[in-house]
Amino acid sequence: MAKKNQNPHLDPEKFRDALATVREDGKRNWVYPKKVSGFFYKYRSYLSWLLLAILFAGPFIQVDGRPYMLFNIFERKFIIFGAAFWPQDTHLLIFLLLIFFVFIILFTVVFGRVWCGWACPQTLFMEMVFRKIEYAIEGDANQQRTLNQGPWNSEKIWKKGLKISIFALISLLIGHLVMAYLIGIDQVKEIVTQPPSAHLAGFIGLIAFSGIFMFVFSWFREQACLVVCPYGRLQGVLLDDNSINVMYDYVRGEPRSPIRKNEVEATPKGDCIDCGLCVQVCPTGIDIRNGTQMECVNCTACIDACDEVMVKVERPKGLIRYASENSIKQGFQKLITGRVKGYVIVLVILMAAFVALIATRSDLEGTVTRFPGMTYQAREGGMVSNLYNITLINKTFEPQSVTIESLAEGMKVEIVGDMNWVLEPQSKFEGRFFLVREQAGVKVPQEKVLLRLAAEGEEFEEIETNFMAPVGAQNN
Ligand code: SF4
Ligand code: SF4
Repeated sequence: MAKKNQNPHLDPEKFRDALATVREDGKRNWVYPKKVSGFFYKYRSYLSWLLLAILFAGPFIQVDGRPYMLFNIFERKFIIFGAAFWPQDTHLLIFLLLIFFVFIILFTVVFGRVWCGWACPQTLFMEMVFRKIEYAIEGDANQQRTLNQGPWNSEKIWKKGLKISIFALISLLIGHLVMAYLIGIDQVKEIVTQPPSAHLAGFIGLIAFSGIFMFVFSWFREQACLVVCPYGRLQGVLLDDNSINVMYDYVRGEPRSPIRKNEVEATPKGDCIDCGLCVQVCPTGIDIRNGTQMECVNCTACIDACDEVMVKVERPKGLIRYASENSIKQGFQKLITGRVKGYVIVLVILMAAFVALIATRSDLEGTVTRFPGMTYQAREGGMVSNLYNITLINKTFEPQSVTIESLAEGMKVEIVGDMNWVLEPQSKFEGRFFLVREQAGVKVPQEKVLLRLAAEGEEFEEIETNFMAPVGAQNN
């Protein structure tokens, strides 16, 4: 009789009832994935170096002295690929997010969780940085298990101390990196080079982010993918039988059976020799032979492990491979389904709308409002005026000299205070002005007035407002 597995998650009859990383008594089942090597691991490593290099270089890339990427959620200021987005551009950012989400959905429907295994920063740092350091210091899975279960002797203190120190250093580095994306590299440099009291909020942010990363990569680990990441939890609704995933070819593999010497072939057997290596290398502790599971981050470790086994037992590679349920069950792969076409149409519409919005977006914006609580002011010499507030936003990276004029006949603009409206790059300006006309020229109590705003002599906006004054020649 087949021996039942101690971990309920690996039991084909019970695996859907429990998390692989939680024991029956509710405690954490620490995963010790075995070291893996092979075709996919090699190319994942290459790609991870490239992606990490881009990630770390990101905050240092500046164009004309400004960041190329900035996600300043505190001041609601974003620079994406050099283009600045202000709070007034929230609708553009929402569009951008929608495009991103639809793209991710489309990509997932077709290619499953390729993102998780190959490009997600959590996997990159966990599997390609922290895990490798752990292997280098504490050895492979069995050595780690022995070390953890053993007494606190000098070897354990030394190894754990070294590992924690390196993990803390890297977490600090990642914390600084995240802050650089949020507030800019120059600000981070200031926080680092000046006393904490000079930038207390920034300093706390740096320490908090570093602490979170230390917690995630040294202890929380795969739990981030299993219980926190919303993308992982969406797989159930995104994937279908045509989606490509890391799959076990059960048609070829079953019935699984270990190879026994001198065994007489009584019943036909599948290619899976039930060695369990695919389970031992899995960083989320699951058995891919139970089918596609939410916990699978498509890291390809089981593909490499199984391919190695197949080579040794002289059977074709690819018992575990990138495939869809239909390609295994029915032998054919259909990538472009009706669902995929639908998502493509939505994506194209969103992208077209976004391009149109970007093309019509102004780099300079003005808003004029009547001064609250005031109607009109009667002036000497038979003149009458209305007071207005103006807000100007310069989204460009150059200073802009802004002028305003009224297009209504006989109406003059009289600026309050500084007559020179020079807007600094990437700045907001608030000012006031009067519209003034002769009382005798007032034809209606509320007149529509067009104002022309120009920067460096070139019109960038026409704004309509109201001018209020009593009709006729009487003074107030
Ligand atoms: S089942 Fe395979 S691909 Fe999925 S997480 Fe485990 S090792 Fe990675
Ligand atoms: S590594 Fe391959 S042969 Fe070994 S148990 Fe997994 S699927 Fe079967």
